[in-house]
Amino acid sequence: MPELPEMENYKRLLARTFVGKTITGTQVSREKSINIPPSQFTAAITGNRIQSIERRAKHLLFHIDHQKVMLLHLMLGGLIYYGTEEDKPNRTVQVQIDFGPHRLFFIGLRLGYLHLLSAADVQDKLIQLGPEPLGPYFTEQDFINAITAKKSRLKTTLVEQSFLSGIGNYYSDEICWHAGILPMRNCNDLSVEEKSKLYRSIRTVLSEALESGGYMEMPLYKGDTLTGGYDPIRKVYDRGGEPCFRCGRPIIKDEHSSRKLFYCTGCQT
Ligand SMILES: [Zn+2]
Repeated sequence: MPELPEMENYKRLLARTFVGKTITGTQVSREKSINIPPSQFTAAITGNRIQSIERRAKHLLFHIDHQKVMLLHLMLGGLIYYGTEEDKPNRTVQVQIDFGPHRLFFIGLRLGYLHLLSAADVQDKLIQLGPEPLGPYFTEQDFINAITAKKSRLKTTLVEQSFLSGIGNYYSDEICWHAGILPMRNCNDLSVEEKSKLYRSIRTVLSEALESGGYMEMPLYKGDTLTGGYDPIRKVYDRGGEPCFRCGRPIIKDEHSSRKLFYCTGCQT
């Protein structure tokens, strides 16, 4: 499932292209991906301009005219592609938004959705989300205070969206490896020094992943060489049995409470 770096990468690339552009039409082949009947959806957004694109946690918010927002969550397996009908990937498209000859294709939206809401409803919907880990208001002291109150496993805590926004299975393992801490440790067993390390690792890993284009498997548009650039340089996720880049021991693939875990017993304690 795309996490903060993937969605922020999409946001940055899309904002360059779409802000100010007018929606000329839509096609919906999976009604469940949207929240109102397709004809109403098309009528409500056609002729509107994209005013801005924002990311909050793993969501993208397409702000359009009349204080309306298209709220996107890709969930598991969802992705976006931008191009013309000719360079569209050979995948089933659930929702398509047209900007003249160019189109934004939403693919693999089985659990994911694109909902048209008022700006106020979006605020209500996202109110439970925790702080943005790359945001200016996420301080080390706030993080230490928040994690000190937790009794659950570190991995479970890092992926909890009301604790921190935008981290999932992939980056929680990368962060724990970077900090040299085992993901199945309990938060209340961590020392203050380990909590500080974790704070720095959260910021470092997410920033590096974002600058490298995140891990999405498909470019956003033809000629896009940035998107997906982090995947080949990831450190532990989905590297079970392969040697650790820091100490050489094989990476362990494990499972806890039906979540996959990847870590190194040589250099994570
Ligand atoms: Zn190691």
